[in-house]
Amino acid sequence: EKGVLGASTKDVMLSYDWFQTDSLITIVIYTKQKDLNAELVIVDCQDKRLRGEIIIDDHSYLVEVDLYHAVQEDLAVNITEKVGKVEIILKKNDNIHWKMLGQPLENHNTFIKRTDRGQFYRKCKLVSKTEVTHDTKLFCLMLPKSTHLHVPTGQHVYLKQIIAGTEVVKPYTPVLPFLPLDFKEPSCHDGAHIYLMIKIYSCGPFTQALEHLQVGDYISVSNPEGNFKKSQVQTSEDLFLLAAGTGFTPMVKLLDFALTEVSCLRTVKLIFFNKTEDDILWRNQLEQLALKDKRFEVKFILSQPTKDWMGKEGKISSSLLSEFVKRSSKYSKVLICICGPTPFTEQGVQYLKDLGYSQEEIHAFTA
Ligand code: FAD
Ligand code: NAD
Repeated sequence: EKGVLGASTKDVMLSYDWFQTDSLITIVIYTKQKDLNAELVIVDCQDKRLRGEIIIDDHSYLVEVDLYHAVQEDLAVNITEKVGKVEIILKKNDNIHWKMLGQPLENHNTFIKRTDRGQFYRKCKLVSKTEVTHDTKLFCLMLPKSTHLHVPTGQHVYLKQIIAGTEVVKPYTPVLPFLPLDFKEPSCHDGAHIYLMIKIYSCGPFTQALEHLQVGDYISVSNPEGNFKKSQVQTSEDLFLLAAGTGFTPMVKLLDFALTEVSCLRTVKLIFFNKTEDDILWRNQLEQLALKDKRFEVKFILSQPTKDWMGKEGKISSSLLSEFVKRSSKYSKVLICICGPTPFTEQGVQYLKDLGYSQEEIHAFTA
């Protein structure tokens, strides 16, 4: 009656097993991956439907069953990183013996390309909505107790809403509730909340619907996606972040990660392009961070400043980039990350290449 089964590709073999006590059901997934971590394990349990996904490089392994009996809402996920073992622990609703784990669902025990795995959404509760600027808000969403999901640095999620009878999906990049200012404290990723910094457009149907979402309402949130790899930062000495408008969002977790966890970094520079002073997101926090951490510097560049703006004016250009993006020494290893409106990102990448930076030294955040 045990469910020891495997799914494999050429190089990887995965299997799962399950056992029970009077009150618990434990599902164990053996990945044999040495670098498994919490970001690579996504678990949901809704109405007796259990879904556990493990990400291994560009592949995904899935355990998906209709449970034999009901379980309680809160579940636990334990990961033994060294051996790549994942335990999903469910609490039985009634202390009865289960004859089987449940009925396998269509994609149960499959190991396929991530891109071939359909998106999965869970409903999250809007717990707060706070003002960031005149048109941008910080949305705090709470994951269900029955969900285990951590959005990795540099990745986005999709929100799904029904607008005028049609399902609409748009990507958003989770941020932190605030920038890290005290590097002695490990930063607060409690895992239960997702923070999104979203600009509301007066003629944008999706963000208008978000604007009308009330605290206590629910919205569907997908699994994370994106091709940014933390390892790109881990080895760099100079990190340049070029952000325009809400293109700032991927830079938030990136800044936190770089300044708290990358020991070889000498300089981190954010060049932040906005229309006006009022549009600058988290200006005060960024300035505080620059005062606090000598490695970090921030430059604001406005495309539509008022007369009294003392700082830089303009849009992304070759001369601006050659002025602000410079290696701290001749052979220092650089990473340049860029995000903003598509023309901004495309022009930026081209200018950087013209200035002699290689493809490997540039990461562009795109859809
Ligand atoms: P839309 O109808 O898409 O339009 C918004 C505004 O842009 C309107 O004023 C419209 O007139 C104008 N507009 C539309 N198309 C064009 C065009 N081609 N050229 C010029 N102007 C145009 N946004 C955030 O606020 N925060 C995030 O964290 C975030 N993360 C993202 C991550 C990724 C990977 C991507 C691709 C986008 C991200 N976005 C983010 C943008 C977001 O997905 C939506 O595009 C945005 O919220 C607008 O949606 P909307 O339907 O309200 O407006
Ligand atoms: P915005 O209109 O306020 O513009 C901000 C700055 O971007 C401007 O001041 C200007 O310097 C620059 N800019 C704008 N249009 C430009 C153009 N055509 N050419 C060169 N530079 C230009 O920006 P916003 O409304 O905050 O929009 C932010 C954009 O970032 C959105 O398009 C959003 O989709 C995108 N975004 C992408 C990702 C991602 O791909 N991962 C994440 C977050 C945001």
